[in-house]
Amino acid sequence: LRDLPAEARIVIVGGGVAGASIAYHLAQLGEPSLLVDRNQLTSGSTFHSAGLVGQLRGSVSLTRMMMHSVELYRTLDCGWVECGGLRLACSPERLDETRRQAGWAQTFDLPLELISPAEAVERFPLMSDDGVLAASWLPTDGYLDPSLLTYALADGARAGGCDIHTNTRVTGIEVRDGRVRGIETDRGSVAAELVVLACGMYTPEVAALAGVHVPIVPMAHEYLVTQPFQERRGLPTLRDPDHLVYFREEGGGLVMGGYERESAPWGLDGIPPDFNGILLEEDWDRFEPLTVAARMRVPAMDQITVTRLINGPEAFTPDNEFCLGESEVGGLFVAAGFCAHGLAGAGGIGKVMAEWIAAGEPQLDLWQMDIRRFGAHYRSPQYTLARTKEVYETYYDIKPPHHERSAGRPLRMSPVYAWHAEHGAVFGEKAGWERVNWYEPTGIAEEHRACRETAALFDETSFAKLEVTGDLQPLCNRTLGPVGTIKYTQMPNARGGIECDVTVTRLAEDRYRVITGTAFGGHDRAWLEKHGLEVRDVTFEYACFGLWGPRARDILPALDFPFMHWREVTVGSVGVLAARVTFVGEHGWELYCPMERGLELWEWLWEAGQPHGLVAGGYRAIDSLRLEKGYRVWGADITPDVTPAEAGLAKGDPPRRLRCLVLEDPRRIAFGNEPVRAGDEVVGRTTSGGYGYTVERSIAYALLPAAVDGDLAVGLSGEWVPARIEREPLYDPDNARVRS
Ligand SMILES: Cc1cc2nc3c(=O)[nH]c(=O)nc-3n(C[C@H](O)[C@H](O)[C@H](O)COP(=O)(O)OP(=O)(O)OC[C@H]3O[C@@H](n4cnc5c(N)ncnc54)[C@H](O)[C@@H]3O)c2cc1C
Repeated sequence: LRDLPAEARIVIVGGGVAGASIAYHLAQLGEPSLLVDRNQLTSGSTFHSAGLVGQLRGSVSLTRMMMHSVELYRTLDCGWVECGGLRLACSPERLDETRRQAGWAQTFDLPLELISPAEAVERFPLMSDDGVLAASWLPTDGYLDPSLLTYALADGARAGGCDIHTNTRVTGIEVRDGRVRGIETDRGSVAAELVVLACGMYTPEVAALAGVHVPIVPMAHEYLVTQPFQERRGLPTLRDPDHLVYFREEGGGLVMGGYERESAPWGLDGIPPDFNGILLEEDWDRFEPLTVAARMRVPAMDQITVTRLINGPEAFTPDNEFCLGESEVGGLFVAAGFCAHGLAGAGGIGKVMAEWIAAGEPQLDLWQMDIRRFGAHYRSPQYTLARTKEVYETYYDIKPPHHERSAGRPLRMSPVYAWHAEHGAVFGEKAGWERVNWYEPTGIAEEHRACRETAALFDETSFAKLEVTGDLQPLCNRTLGPVGTIKYTQMPNARGGIECDVTVTRLAEDRYRVITGTAFGGHDRAWLEKHGLEVRDVTFEYACFGLWGPRARDILPALDFPFMHWREVTVGSVGVLAARVTFVGEHGWELYCPMERGLELWEWLWEAGQPHGLVAGGYRAIDSLRLEKGYRVWGADITPDVTPAEAGLAKGDPPRRLRCLVLEDPRRIAFGNEPVRAGDEVVGRTTSGGYGYTVERSIAYALLPAAVDGDLAVGLSGEWVPARIEREPLYDPDNARVRS
């Protein structure tokens, strides 16, 4: 064994496919690293992977990452077979999903086509077309040899100066003043500026050495390998999500795996310290239902001898997205939790992580995969487990727009939760919070109308609320006003993209309350702290209710002060910070009070509002109201990849712009990610959409080249619905309602 160096600028822990790819991409950027693995390269989950590489995923960034993987694999000696991939649709709902995905694929530049069952059989002659309505066909999908890939990446990394030490176990992580300083191993310590944990399912235990919590659960995942029974045919990969199974060719035989309805979490009390290069025992009972489905789809499976059933654990996250990025310990990065997509993802994962590490910020919008998305509630092992089981067991299920998950609910509740339930609320969940989507007896349309015509009351207690001390101005692209005022502002990143989109309540000369979206508290907090500000999360200290509508002033006549100002007032007998802001485009306030007084305040407002036609409303009405008014949503319309000028939130002449589209057919609704066409060319994608009940139009926002104009069309489930760009906002363009 060679001696470990005493120091290295960048240390990567984990020699699976992820660690090797990060080392490879760092080397490409001229950043040599030190990689250590407690055992051999590939001896974690990587060696027993089925090696399928599919590219189409639900988000642009993730799909781009997968596409980068394929481009890279074509150039490496990794057994890459670009055989194409088939995905079957066996129900009308699945067909609709497939069409929606085909729409996304167009905006991602993926050559995905919809084909008939007969064409699918032509490509995969062993399959039965029983029950198949259509299939999608992606000619650039394929499979590879996981170990070869890892070794090829490691070789490339070595050639760029990476120093790889196997049989070197990390036993400690040194942290001082909130930053990582190095690692301790069973073979000595290494001082380091940056440490990347790419330890697969072992990541939680390694991260814990630095006091960092990573919500990853190892789950046993199985596939079988058959004996060769035919000449190699160049079959494509085949996925039959309605029957939970996937196939690929292996020599002259098949590999077949799937997602069991009954998942098998593993190693919950700790992964054995010598668990490397080992498989779990075959679990035929759990796999049996999948073999029945497989025989139905590929009847030849009946006659083929199975060589072995591979059962191996793999790192899953509670939302089935990767876990990437810098932890709360400065310089300590995580890249793990690949949810059985680590091989497909590795190329892209290596690239985005290397760029992130080198630049200190991700170079594209990775929010969905960002470790900061996990709030404190994921510290509960039971909650994390319940959520992870749910995503595994429903992996192939159709998730229509507005899909809500059910595991681990209810978790976080506003003080008004019981009142909402008694009044027929239909709840949705965000970041663990139960939020009213709408009230059954009233309905979204009625709630919307009340807000425009009389008044509506919304429970927005789940808003993330951060109290910030220090000089906030340098981070903001708008000038903050004096104490007593409120500013809506963006915080741009180094690329000029919108890293945070917040309202800032100036409480004192150097103290602010920053309000941001329910799920963005961790993200925004990290951004503020990274820039030297002191942040206290007060989300759980204050309830927040939005009271808006033309009659709001009749309900609270004493609250007579200008737009974008705040005052401390008493409502009923509750002390309240009233902020005159709006996300719905009507006169009114956000009212913040101590959490324990929330119910009392809500009930007082409810009673006081009855003579004025007050209606309680939910988040779906808010969404319809804000769309009409052109208010942007971070994470959808605006992201770290979109600049304020592109978003129409600052002056400038950018080459692409966020535009308001109106669909010709008001009954057709866009949800986001749909392709937008000008003539025959796909020119962009929608970012969000919905129905505006006041303007009575179907609205979609879309990022489009600035020059695009005229007649457009939005691709909704395979149909092109005519649309045109409209001047925005559609509702109250002069802001008369808000300022009145
Ligand atoms: C049955 C099965 C089938 C799969 N099929 C596919 C598929 O078809 N397509 C696909 O894309 N993905 C698939 N996957 C998923 C894929 O295998 C994983 O996502 C991927 O291999 C994870 O790689 P990794 O580098 O993150 O982790 P790992 O390969 O687990 O590597 C982590 C490494 O960290 C090391 N380590 C841990 N602790 C320490 C420590 N304290 N000090 C030093 N080193 C440490 C370990 O020794 C290990 O080598 C499958 C997984 C399973 C289980």
